[in-house]
Amino acid sequence: MRVGVTRELRAGERRVAATPETVQQLASLGLDVIVEKGAGVESGYSDAAYQEAGATIAAKLALGTLDVLVHVRPLSPATAKALKKGAVTIGLASPSTELPTISALASGKVTAFALELIPRISRAQSMDALSSQALVSGYRAVIEAVMRYPRFFPLYMTAAGTIPPAKVLVLGAGVAGLQAIGTAKRLGARVSANDIRAASADEVRSMGGTFINLDLDTAAEGTGGYAKELAEDRAKRQRDLLAPHIAASDVLITTAAIPGRAAPLLVTTDMVKGMRAGSVVIDLAAESGGNVEGVVAGKDTPVPVAGGTVTLVGLQDAPSAIPSDASRLYAKNVANLLALMTAEGTVSPDYSDEVVAGACLTRDGTVVHEPTAQALA
Ligand code: NAD
Repeated sequence: MRVGVTRELRAGERRVAATPETVQQLASLGLDVIVEKGAGVESGYSDAAYQEAGATIAAKLALGTLDVLVHVRPLSPATAKALKKGAVTIGLASPSTELPTISALASGKVTAFALELIPRISRAQSMDALSSQALVSGYRAVIEAVMRYPRFFPLYMTAAGTIPPAKVLVLGAGVAGLQAIGTAKRLGARVSANDIRAASADEVRSMGGTFINLDLDTAAEGTGGYAKELAEDRAKRQRDLLAPHIAASDVLITTAAIPGRAAPLLVTTDMVKGMRAGSVVIDLAAESGGNVEGVVAGKDTPVPVAGGTVTLVGLQDAPSAIPSDASRLYAKNVANLLALMTAEGTVSPDYSDEVVAGACLTRDGTVVHEPTAQALA
């Protein structure tokens, strides 16, 4: 069967859905891999490296001939329409926003798998692209902060004087937040964090951070390890209790998210104005509305404070900023899902498997993911 690897079309997207390593993995399953010319160039994977791994290079993918198409960003409606009936797609599909594409996939009887829908169970961890890419984002958030922060992160005791360590506060201690805590710790910062899931306290400590317990007196655990949205009175109380911690930090990194919802507002402009000049705020949730009031995705906004400004950064396309390793992890997630559905060179999804069924978005002309089907109705 023919598996196509597309060159990503979205401006700023530098990742690719297969690497030479995963081409080898797919070839060993008996699949023929066709890589669109230059698909891996921005991630550091040359056409020659793909060829050496066993792929064919095509100037342009003949979409109508493919049995499987793997991708990073959601496909365009035009690409979806060009696929043949029965073809399989695997990639990030943004089920809540990319409705025209999903509708085209369903009406073309394409079987689409959305990596966002992979169930969060132990067996599916090797296919969990949200986690692998959140790890990259959490690391990158700290690097972006370091580049803008006018002081050191580590403690330095020198003959010319002592420099205290930076105080980093991380709000939202999921996969990205924990990685941000670990990265900031490794750079020598003093790190604290808050999350509304009770389980996160031990995870923060295991990464070397101090957990800030706000005593919100509410159970915020949702399903699948995710958080539940706080009611507005609790959300306000959380902001009030966080304000002094934010004022005392030099670098604030926010990563809070609720699946299928806009990002919760954790930090108002007044709270940012409580920070000292030179401080940096990195909002990883900027693309989904932001955790920080006034944040603009893809932009740095100077917030005036006494004696200078605080830099508010709306981080965008964070995994794309480290395209080689982000692709390496992402491509493994894709190949592992494809391997789960392949036997003797044939891709044939077994829907009695909860991972396969859970990740399926469209099948046999129908949108099988209920919330997306409802959004389209
Ligand atoms: P996410 O990206 O949906 O959210 C990021 C974090 O924001 C979460 O920890 C959430 O609790 C937190 N948050 C939401 N509202 C908040 C608020 N008002 N204030 C502070 N924090 C808030 O989540 P994620 O990082 O993808 O995953 C969350 C958890 O899911 C992980 O820490 C892990 O325990 C679990 N998980 C399990 C698996 C698995 O078993 N395969 C895989 C990945 C994650």
